[in-house]
Amino acid sequence: MQSLVALLMAVSSPAPLVFRLHDGAPDVVREVLLERGWEEYDPQEQDEGDWNLYWRTSAFRNFDYENILPWQRLNHHPKTASISRKDCLARNLRRMRGTYGPASYGFSPIAFILPNDYTRFLEEYGKTRLESAGKPRYWICKPVDLSRGRGIFIFSDIKHLAYDSPVIVQKYISNPLLISGYKFDLRIYVCVKSFHPLTIYMHQEGLVRFATEKYNLDSLDNLFSHLTNTSINKFGPFYTTDKERVGQGCKWTLSKFRSFLRSQGINELLLWQKINNIVTLTLLTIAPSIPSSPSSLELFGFDILIDSNFKPWLLEVNYSPALSLDCAADIMVKKGVINDLIDLMNYRRVDSLRQQGYLRPRQRRTCCFSSPSLLKKNPAALLIAKSVYRKERRRESGLNSLNAEYFECPSVERRGNSEGNTLQDPKAIAVSVNKKASPPQMESPSCWYEHEGVQSLEDSSVHTWSSANRNTSSKVFSLPAIQSHKYKPTMFSWDHMTHDRNVPSHRVGDFILTFPFNEVTRKASQDTLDVKTVLHEVHKLTSQLTFSCVKEKKKKVNNESSATKKNKCTSLLWGPRNPPSLSEYCSSH
Ligand code: ADP
Repeated sequence: MQSLVALLMAVSSPAPLVFRLHDGAPDVVREVLLERGWEEYDPQEQDEGDWNLYWRTSAFRNFDYENILPWQRLNHHPKTASISRKDCLARNLRRMRGTYGPASYGFSPIAFILPNDYTRFLEEYGKTRLESAGKPRYWICKPVDLSRGRGIFIFSDIKHLAYDSPVIVQKYISNPLLISGYKFDLRIYVCVKSFHPLTIYMHQEGLVRFATEKYNLDSLDNLFSHLTNTSINKFGPFYTTDKERVGQGCKWTLSKFRSFLRSQGINELLLWQKINNIVTLTLLTIAPSIPSSPSSLELFGFDILIDSNFKPWLLEVNYSPALSLDCAADIMVKKGVINDLIDLMNYRRVDSLRQQGYLRPRQRRTCCFSSPSLLKKNPAALLIAKSVYRKERRRESGLNSLNAEYFECPSVERRGNSEGNTLQDPKAIAVSVNKKASPPQMESPSCWYEHEGVQSLEDSSVHTWSSANRNTSSKVFSLPAIQSHKYKPTMFSWDHMTHDRNVPSHRVGDFILTFPFNEVTRKASQDTLDVKTVLHEVHKLTSQLTFSCVKEKKKKVNNESSATKKNKCTSLLWGPRNPPSLSEYCSSH
């Protein structure tokens, strides 16, 4: 009796969400999660599956995907690491350029993978020399599987090309946009919430990374002038110097860069849209080959160089982008990105499941039926929580006519404490699971979408399940607040307008949904990805913006904008700090 009372008391207080970090995971992830009230996984104290988020810098094993439980998230989709290998990216982009043409896929500098492409490189090298009539042309050589600027050099004469491991040789963008003579590139943070259907969010904040010596084509060996990697520039002699306009160090936030563009009278909108297109088109190259994993999401770092004609170029895509905090800009940007990423994971609906499947160690000690080794010894115990989960899903969708054989077991009692919280007897459920060992089902991607729309993120400090759920007999545990520190309401919400559960939220924190961006692209990415249709829509949107930017064909744009409203396509424009919706923008220009 005493232990039952203790158990009831323990379970009535919500258990914190639990994160698990693999060796080498960034400190900022730990810091942010602890600040949000999470608890770190302790393998000595907790059971194998008693966590909500597993964060690794390197790839997960197949085992991790196969054994995922309904309340768990992984920070990588399977098979995405290859995108950050320079040769794989170059190969994929070349294939897409061959299929869909340079008008769509002309955003990455032409590249050759050596030694295989040596003859083709020689041809191109000879051709550009002829075309340039003696003026030097520049190339950059990069080891295919190194990062942080390691092993990179720039050359103009082929006699300086030397390599002893596979490399890519890429056209060097020799006319970068400069700020007070300094070269820079942009680090854009992109979250792929799902590859099936493709769902992309881009973060409004990011980093501008400067070289620390003035750009000079006469000194190709000076890496502090040509490379923008922080890992290189923080060791440069001018890192701490207060450099003209750039200031000390080598980083700005994207917000500061926006102010700079505005101060120069530059219309940034088309630039952002082109960057947005680069991200979408690059992810299209790998999307069909990524196995579906609804419990994963992925943070990529896209490196973009802008040339003096304001054309953005894709330099590379980083899997597990660096999250070290070197300066104030890092702290502001990276902490914000991680916070918003956690919000995108939408945890408030899953923790009660873990809590029911795995009672906290403190609670287990007082619990007559939950031996600490139960889940380890009995493989079916892992299914306990899955069956609870399935049951909750059924309840949630209002299907009270449960499949009694599978979901209900005569020996399973749902007991409520004074708070209305429900306890499950794991042993009893284990019996039912053993009887019917059907494979557990994974959560469908639609469960990841914010069912109540983005506004629910603004709700009170304590979240419970959706109102539909509150009407059921099983009241669930409240979860710690999901912070919505930077959420700004927007006038339109595509999901609110369509009332479609499958439409993702337009904005979560500073993450803006950039794909799908209308009903056509949503449909084109539902089952098999229809790349042609997507490209068509991307071009249509870009030219629509081009038209409105130059204030031409105003009537046509307005017509299109009202057609857009009819289509309920009111996507937000990624890029501007407080993004307008596409239809708002077009009708006001
Ligand atoms: P790493 O993975 O080693 O950082 P990157 O491809 O990002 O390799 O290149 C490192 C840096 O070199 C970039 O941040 C950029 O400043 C410069 N760089 C790379 N490729 C080019 C290019 N094609 N044209 C101009 N600069 C480039």
